[in-house]
Amino acid sequence: MANIAFIGLGNMGGPMAANLVKAGHKVTAFDLVEASRDQAKADGAAIAESSVACVKGVDVVITMLPAGKHVLSVWNEVVPVMTKGTLIIDCSTIDVESAKQAHALAAKHGMLSVDAPVSGGTGGAKGATLTFMCGGEEKAFAAAKPVLENMGKKIVHCGVGGAGQAAKICNNMILGISMIGVGEAFALAEKLGLSHQALFDVASTSSGQCWALTSYCPVPGPVPTSPANNDYKPGFASALMVKDLTLAQDAAKAAGAATPLGKHAQEIYKAFDAAGHGGVDFSGIIQHVRSLAAK
Ligand code: NAD
Repeated sequence: MANIAFIGLGNMGGPMAANLVKAGHKVTAFDLVEASRDQAKADGAAIAESSVACVKGVDVVITMLPAGKHVLSVWNEVVPVMTKGTLIIDCSTIDVESAKQAHALAAKHGMLSVDAPVSGGTGGAKGATLTFMCGGEEKAFAAAKPVLENMGKKIVHCGVGGAGQAAKICNNMILGISMIGVGEAFALAEKLGLSHQALFDVASTSSGQCWALTSYCPVPGPVPTSPANNDYKPGFASALMVKDLTLAQDAAKAAGAATPLGKHAQEIYKAFDAAGHGGVDFSGIIQHVRSLAAK
């Protein structure tokens, strides 16, 4: 069993650290927020006084933070004081450029590094069923895989440093676009007098089939576990979809890729967020789509 430092104990990091404790690892944890530290302590982790104190003498360091600037700030503090050859994994969703800078910093100090953003949300974090999309050298990935397996069920090596973040934003751009498409189809069906169930029964077994429809249906009824049946409580909040679609647009601009639907999806989710619905599950975008018809 490993000696693991975990920094960033929010909605995702808290339960992920708890799963490492459950798997038998010795976990030392740190977060800026006292309530998150208290929860981690109750879950069986040792609490450090700072990020730097957290990483002293550990085999593996994991960060789960809001954005690229937080990751670079924490990595700049901890990487220089880690024992040479230590593995550092960032599970946050951040921009590809910051991820590459983080890898370069780790390499400069002789560390193994992996970017490993996740899919699966808070339910996946609690249930240890996350998918990890990893970027980094083969040796670093091989060392990270058994650790990540305690927190997820699918661990994919996507390529060199930054490839995990690239896979994450491409996947979530598909998701953001397809959820709007499914919402538009249900909104049109309503106007045409077609029942939700009838559209679902046809499209879920026809060429319109996709995850946004069959696993996360944005109207109540056809898929009982979808947030539509629970007043659109997240799940995956619309504000996080705006974040990921913005990362995708930044990456597209930097790489010179054309993503017109990704851009439009970002604008639609931004408008929903600006109207005060950032905390609503992203499948609630169907409400915004319906509201456009009235204008
Ligand atoms: P969160 O805001 O709940 O948690 C982030 C934590 O980082 C907070 O507790 C904060 O206090 C802590 N933090 C910030 N700066 C710090 C510092 N310098 N030192 C120590 N701690 C610090 O966010 P979350 O929902 O847990 O998401 C974390 C990451 O995972 C984000 O990048 C997010 O985009 C990604 N993600 C979230 C979900 C989801 O459904 N919530 C799903 C997939 C990916």
